[in-house]
Amino acid sequence: MPRLSEIWNARKATAVKLLTNSAPWRISLLCVLLLSTVILFVQLCLPAGLASQTAAANEAIPAVAASLPIPPLVSQPKPAVNLAMMPSIWPAQGTITSGFGWRVSPFGDGNELHAGIDIAYTMGAPVAATADGEVVVSGPAGGYGNLVQIDHGNGIATLYGHNSRLAVSTGQQVKKGQIIAYAGSTGKSTGPHVHYEVRVNNEPVDPMKYLLP
Ligand SMILES: [Zn+2]
Repeated sequence: MPRLSEIWNARKATAVKLLTNSAPWRISLLCVLLLSTVILFVQLCLPAGLASQTAAANEAIPAVAASLPIPPLVSQPKPAVNLAMMPSIWPAQGTITSGFGWRVSPFGDGNELHAGIDIAYTMGAPVAATADGEVVVSGPAGGYGNLVQIDHGNGIATLYGHNSRLAVSTGQQVKKGQIIAYAGSTGKSTGPHVHYEVRVNNEPVDPMKYLLP
């Protein structure tokens, strides 16, 4: 029968053997777990910029750094809106006698799209450009009578019809408020007025949406 001290020594030897065999493996596992926790913390908690710097310094995780969203430092400048080139003022101070949209033709032609607004005005009174731009039409134009058309850029144009006299020529640069014509009743017209149109990419739109009160 073995003595108590022999049993004790045998158990002690087994314990030492187990410890020396398994300890490095356990320490390695612990290190791996600790390292993953630190990496996870860096990804989740630190700001993107700092994390990317950390990642750049550490060659071990370049893929993580590449996938991190890095916000742009400077926002892209937006194109400035030139208000002088936006039609906003009235071409003539008068009463609107016909609005934009479908109407019964005053000439008995059934329903027609009235592409602008009619502003009743005094014969020979000055008509103003509603924005800066280039005169692209200045002359007689069928039902429009003596017409002025101004290109304001960005696809926006304005038209002024039925003038008695024109004050600008094609190709001329004009300023907002500048006199471009004198009111009349030329073309298809029932009395002295300004037929005023605003076109966006050559499509007539309601000028009232552009006119400041
Ligand atoms: Zn009209």
